[in-house]
Amino acid sequence: MFCVECGKETDKTVDGACVECFVKDKPLVKLPHHVDLQICTNCEEYALNKTWVEMEPSEAVEEAALGRLSAIKEARVLSVGTRVTKQDQKTYKVEMEADLEIRGTEVRAEASTLVRLKNTVCKRCSRQLGNYYEAILQIRSDGALEDSLRDEVVRRVRNDVEGQSKTDRRLFITSVSEVTGGIDIKLSSIALGKNISRDLADRYGAETKESFSLVGQAADGSETHRVTFLVRLPEHRVGDAVTFDGKLYKLTYISKSGGKLLALQGFKSIFVPRADMVRVRVFKKRADLGTATVVFSKDGEAEILHPVTYETVMIITPKGEEIGETVRFVDLDGEILYIP
Ligand SMILES: [Zn+2]
Ligand SMILES: [Zn+2]
Repeated sequence: MFCVECGKETDKTVDGACVECFVKDKPLVKLPHHVDLQICTNCEEYALNKTWVEMEPSEAVEEAALGRLSAIKEARVLSVGTRVTKQDQKTYKVEMEADLEIRGTEVRAEASTLVRLKNTVCKRCSRQLGNYYEAILQIRSDGALEDSLRDEVVRRVRNDVEGQSKTDRRLFITSVSEVTGGIDIKLSSIALGKNISRDLADRYGAETKESFSLVGQAADGSETHRVTFLVRLPEHRVGDAVTFDGKLYKLTYISKSGGKLLALQGFKSIFVPRADMVRVRVFKKRADLGTATVVFSKDGEAEILHPVTYETVMIITPKGEEIGETVRFVDLDGEILYIP
């Protein structure tokens, strides 16, 4: 076979020409003059392939340009090298060098484009900024809700939502507000509210209650619901001195199946199923327990200096205590009980 252009003998032709003649002066790869790349001004994520993604600016720019690269149909793209140069705040120049294969011959081609960043607000952010919510978590407590616990719960909810939003960006916290008796956390999704309230119920042995409300009807007839999840935290917390069936214990552990109590007389642990946890009553909150200094210690017995009377009092401890150490105790009608 001979090339119709240069007459050279060749066994590979495209439209009758040898590959060299075929590619001569021909744009083999193409990029549009410019590519618009949407960026959310609120979360700074980029719209790529119909989803919003978190990316380095230069990577997003490169990705946006690559998505618009096309090659002539006779060519197979082997690899593409890119170079991104920032021209101003909103414009990047992207130059590409593509290695192509045409009829078994490798050919290099070049193209370039301008990627322009376009400010917008993604749907999630526009919802969030518009205070959209589908669920309210009402965190309440049977006793006073201590600041430390309130902060811990809020932190837990934030971490949880942040984790879940990585795979579903429709999930977010709309607002956290302090109200009389607790906190209200507004959430973007009913399902999110449901699984967070469950998690809190398991973690703290809390009771939960759901209530639906109809907020409106869309033009297409579909109804919009909101769900309020009331999470009532029990008064008892891990570390508190509690009573159960007339005996004194330290609450050492709470899980979704129940709680673990350590008897303050004899130091035996018992497990209380979740349904029976309502019978656990706070005797003294952990923060209100007495503290005293150990002045003598021997074989499971110790003497402490009573902080009020300054008398030395003998206490029973499951293991020896160091002299000088501070220990917790409760005063049960004059009997001093050590809290491990
Ligand atoms: Zn030729
Ligand atoms: Zn956004």
